[in-house]
Amino acid sequence: MEQWRQIQKNNFRNWKPLAEFLKLDLDKPFFSHPHFPLNLPRRLAEKIEKKTLNDPILLQFFPHQKENVAAPGFLTDPVEDTSFQKTPRLLKKYEGRVLLIVTSACAMHCRFCFRQNYPYNEPPLDFSRELEVIQNDSSIHEVILSGGDPLSLSDQKLGALIEQLSAIPHLKLLRFHTRFPIGIPERITSPFLDLLENTRLQTFFLLHTNHPLELDADVLEAMKRVQKRGIPVLTQTVLIRDVNDNATTLKELFLKLATHGIVPYYLHQLDRVQGAAHFEVATEKGLQLIEQLRKQLPGYAVPTYVQEVHHHKSKTPLTSLALSADQECLAPFLECGQ
Ligand code: SF4
Repeated sequence: MEQWRQIQKNNFRNWKPLAEFLKLDLDKPFFSHPHFPLNLPRRLAEKIEKKTLNDPILLQFFPHQKENVAAPGFLTDPVEDTSFQKTPRLLKKYEGRVLLIVTSACAMHCRFCFRQNYPYNEPPLDFSRELEVIQNDSSIHEVILSGGDPLSLSDQKLGALIEQLSAIPHLKLLRFHTRFPIGIPERITSPFLDLLENTRLQTFFLLHTNHPLELDADVLEAMKRVQKRGIPVLTQTVLIRDVNDNATTLKELFLKLATHGIVPYYLHQLDRVQGAAHFEVATEKGLQLIEQLRKQLPGYAVPTYVQEVHHHKSKTPLTSLALSADQECLAPFLECGQ
């Protein structure tokens, strides 16, 4: 078995051992039967401050009783993934691009994940229907491998899939959306790097990271190995209350990325998934944070602040202008009609 799979087996999946490890009382406000189970790699758990719940890593992974509180506007499918399905595993939201949901598995379970209720339908792991749709639509030039986390698949399965994709002549670009290396950087194996380097498709590596503590020397070294194969590394960050909703933390995160040659690409306004209301940051505050960052960082180190808005043709950049535009309904966060 691959080393990273062995490491993954040591993830915390039960509250009791995690509480003991973090020296927390067992009666802390743990939500004992969440539909999206606790799943936390040991590497991340080791970064968490002991004896407190107010830790920016723990807050992202701790199933809190607050998840059980219904909040208006927070939905099981906040970005309407299912309305964009070409097949159960292939989403086409934007022109020229498709999202291939290759697995439901992740290295970790982030409590704010907008896809935690997605109707995954696996196994068997067979992408013949999806490949056929892509083959028959010459307007598609990019495939985004997503999930779950595409790096949950073995190198062998990823290799077979990439080979099939690269045989489709009109495809030019391949993108990985992943958070895996944040928890288990050992996943960036030499065979995986060979796959990235050897495909004819121009590949982009999109890392999801929310806090500078997530980026230790091993994680950054893993990203360097990706970069050394000629693959651009960019990041996506979710703006999360009490985790990174202050200029100091965001500045440290984006500067750390930039100094390692990694481009902060998107800062996402939280997608309003059921159970995540306690993570939401007001867009006005997000805009203020971006303004502060612009004054302190080079332009390339300030990501675009975006929101996924139903049936817009791309991610919607959030700007003061957009917020003040009367004619534009940026539901759900502006509560249109009120
Ligand atoms: S790693 Fe990504 S897909 Fe998996 S739970 Fe976290 S946000 Fe969701």
